[in-house]
Amino acid sequence: MNDRLLEKYTRLIIKTGVNLEKNQVLVINSPIESASFTRLLAETAYKEGARDVVINWRDELFSKIRYTHAPEDIFSEFPEWQKEFYLSYVRQGAAFVSISASDPELLKDVDPGRVAKAQKASSTALQEYRERLMSNKNTWCVVSIPTKSWAKKVFPALSEAEAVEQLWKLILKVVRVDTDDPVAAWDRHKQDLQQRLDFLNTHKFKTLHYRNALGTDLTIELPDNHLWLGGSEHTPAGREFVANMPTEEVFTLPKKTGINGKVVSSKPLNYNGNLIEDFSLTLKDGKIVDFQAAKGQEILKHLIKTDEGSCYLGEVALVPFDSPISNSKILFFNTLFDENASCHLAIGKAYPVCIQGGENLAKEELAGLGVNDSLVHEDFMIGTDDLEITGMTADGKKVPVFTKGNFAF
Ligand code: ZN
Ligand code: ZN
Repeated sequence: MNDRLLEKYTRLIIKTGVNLEKNQVLVINSPIESASFTRLLAETAYKEGARDVVINWRDELFSKIRYTHAPEDIFSEFPEWQKEFYLSYVRQGAAFVSISASDPELLKDVDPGRVAKAQKASSTALQEYRERLMSNKNTWCVVSIPTKSWAKKVFPALSEAEAVEQLWKLILKVVRVDTDDPVAAWDRHKQDLQQRLDFLNTHKFKTLHYRNALGTDLTIELPDNHLWLGGSEHTPAGREFVANMPTEEVFTLPKKTGINGKVVSSKPLNYNGNLIEDFSLTLKDGKIVDFQAAKGQEILKHLIKTDEGSCYLGEVALVPFDSPISNSKILFFNTLFDENASCHLAIGKAYPVCIQGGENLAKEELAGLGVNDSLVHEDFMIGTDDLEITGMTADGKKVPVFTKGNFAF
């Protein structure tokens, strides 16, 4: 990929993504395979005034070796120094960039119980870190660059080098780096999303009813004072940032105990190095009371059984079927992209910022308002070209929100 485009991409991540302040510290979570890009990102951050850049390298092939050979009991531990690493930087107000790029089936031969244990230990240890990011106390941004194993999964017919090249092209296109001025293109994109937000926030729907031919028939109650968000977010001090690049969604939270019916997935879900495919959830008063997956049933079970809150949902997001990533017709096997090509819901924790004043409320107060809490937050895709969503207002008026997979307004 040519240097000029890569440089543009790093500038977009630093300026529009985390919107780095002068003298702020930047932490980058990066796969070792993307080292050259990550170094370039660090250089751009320093040029834009970073006080320091700290890189947290991850090696997925070593992770696999560890999951395969380490003694079982190590997976319930999380090293104190690693916890300290995240907590000290998040408390001093650092910005966080995470590069999401992994082999979608990395851990398919590993005992899912080991992965679930490690996942739970790490989410428990890093609760305060996650809490701060999900309440927008720090600026953060998730982006991607291709890795070989991931690119081959997306383009199995191409050679490894061609697959990587093709995935680069696609990523740079959907994050608008192929435009003359990506920062300006993002400003326009944020304005477009704002129109959707205005409509949804004005109607203050009491419920949304979803239906499609796959078998989804689900009613979701939205809590009083819920807020639809999308495009950019703001820290309590008012600093604007974009948490996901790309992002095409507008989202809010459901009332924890207000979801009834059945929902069917429309794309595979990559969870912890495994794929869960063709699955459905049945919900009663918000709780997942039944679930079936054609592939990955065991993985889905571990996800849903993580804790009390992982049996409930925490996000309702709308993405039109006719939108840039969806129109590429490519399945990315990476949620950052697939969720932005499809309406989705999330299993687990809700974003406190999706309820008015939520970022300042204590855990118990949020729970009282119907905001779900959990160690997990996992988006799964449900959008199709025939999805119909009907909103009902507080006074019982029915308003079409989605028709034939796209916004009805
Ligand atoms: Zn989402
Ligand atoms: Zn989500």
